[in-house]
Amino acid sequence: MDQLQDFFTREAPRMTALADQIWKLAELRYAETASAQLHIDALAASGFRITKNVAGIPTAFMAEWGGTGNDSGPVIAFLGEYDALSGLNQQSGALVCTPSVDSPGLAGHGCGHHLLGTSAHFAAIALQAHLQASGGKARVRYYGCPAEEGGSGKTFMARAGVFDDVDVALTWHPASYTGVFSQSTLANVQAKFIFHGKASHAAHSPHLGRSALDAVELMNVGVNYLREHMPPDARVHYAVTDTGGTSPNVVQARAEVLYLIRAVRNDEAAALYERVQNVARGAALMTECKLDIVFDKACSNLLQNSTLNAVLHAKLLAEGKLKVNAAEQTKAVDFQATLTASDIDAVSRPLASVLRGKTPAVFEGVAPYDPAAREVLFGSTDVADVSWVTPTAQAWVACFAFGTPMHSWQLVSQGLSGLAHAGMVRAARVLTATAIELVNKPELIEQAKAELLERRQGKPYACPIPADVPLPFTRA
Ligand SMILES: [Zn+2]
Repeated sequence: MDQLQDFFTREAPRMTALADQIWKLAELRYAETASAQLHIDALAASGFRITKNVAGIPTAFMAEWGGTGNDSGPVIAFLGEYDALSGLNQQSGALVCTPSVDSPGLAGHGCGHHLLGTSAHFAAIALQAHLQASGGKARVRYYGCPAEEGGSGKTFMARAGVFDDVDVALTWHPASYTGVFSQSTLANVQAKFIFHGKASHAAHSPHLGRSALDAVELMNVGVNYLREHMPPDARVHYAVTDTGGTSPNVVQARAEVLYLIRAVRNDEAAALYERVQNVARGAALMTECKLDIVFDKACSNLLQNSTLNAVLHAKLLAEGKLKVNAAEQTKAVDFQATLTASDIDAVSRPLASVLRGKTPAVFEGVAPYDPAAREVLFGSTDVADVSWVTPTAQAWVACFAFGTPMHSWQLVSQGLSGLAHAGMVRAARVLTATAIELVNKPELIEQAKAELLERRQGKPYACPIPADVPLPFTRA
């Protein structure tokens, strides 16, 4: 284990520099070309075999190290992400919302995926180093997964079967606290509703026109009535993406609305999507418009694996308390001062038993793990689709001032901080230790697989994106 400590100490500066470079690139979904290439070059230099263009996605790749024969041991996969978020360009370290002069683009790493992907990479090369030193057997994989944000990259990859022979998948997510990612997440479906009417002069010949914008408005009204009669944990969001022009004196011939439908389980999301489509058909009938429904993307609900979670939790605890220096502590205090009480409360509430009424600037401990808790995180992740294919576990690791919300300028601003770097290295150590335990105790992998079968209730994984839906970036 001492050798591994040395490895982490030696490699941390290189990995930190890689994460920082990706933060600066801030590339958006399916366009993470330079970020993916940085990972590919470094993993290839570490002796990993690279498969590019995985699932037909130019910014998805797989890196593998280890034997390929029957006795090459389990396939241990680390999932990495590197996509940024649009509209979140922010100057590093600034305590106010200030667009950066260094990166002229409009995007920013508002979900810390520059840390996420680099830490998973770090874990892959650390496991490789451990196996080389110990003679242990496993095939180590790093999956470069693009477009987690709004692109369902992993769901398209799962549809193509790229995770089918993986024995265990491990990953993590940067956060403002540390613990097992033990919440389930919502399944979702996203689709475009395009209405086609008929243009006419709105004053001279209104009776000859058929308004596509009316259809969009009626669809939205209909869906807003539907809300009262849908499962309480379901969510429906929409954005009008084409209002049909800016001239009120022209009856709008084309209008478009994008819907994102979420529910606790895949089957519930699919059923709700059907009902939303019926509302759209009703709006088309009322307005005598034609309707095109274009399926955009989907992802599954996350399946927990308590066998893996227990190992992960033990490794988080084994790391001991997070210690940051006085300068980082002060920085965290300053950032926390920019948050609202509600921001902090949203993170504090589930951690009440460890916080005991105090609000730390840096969360130093580990949240308790209760396998019986059934908490839902009201959001979605495409890691969920991997969790249906192979046993999957994720950790949250503190990288930001306690209470920092996801997708905020404060999170972008802290992306290059000492705390972010420390969390990134810590996550790599935890993922590596978890993987080593699984390699040493193959019975845990068998147990995790049996648990997955049970959670799937004997059903195979059915990708929520139909086979004929094209990859998002190939569409006109
Ligand atoms: Zn994220």
